[in-house]
Amino acid sequence: MAVPKRKTSKSKRNMRRSHHALRPVRSVKCSNCGEQTLQHHICPHCGHYKGRQVFTAKPSADEE
Ligand SMILES: [Zn+2]
Repeated sequence: MAVPKRKTSKSKRNMRRSHHALRPVRSVKCSNCGEQTLQHHICPHCGHYKGRQVFTAKPSADEE
């Protein structure tokens, strides 16, 4: 098995990890009900996407 010859320096290790940061989730207001939803996703609260009813949300309190 190939084994590294030298210990990776803090500098090299941190340079490698400079791309590992997580970005915040982009949320956007639903144009129909005003709830926060994910961009380019059907609104899970009312079932609208791009001004169109995609599915009908259950009227009962069926929260996950
Ligand atoms: Zn909505």
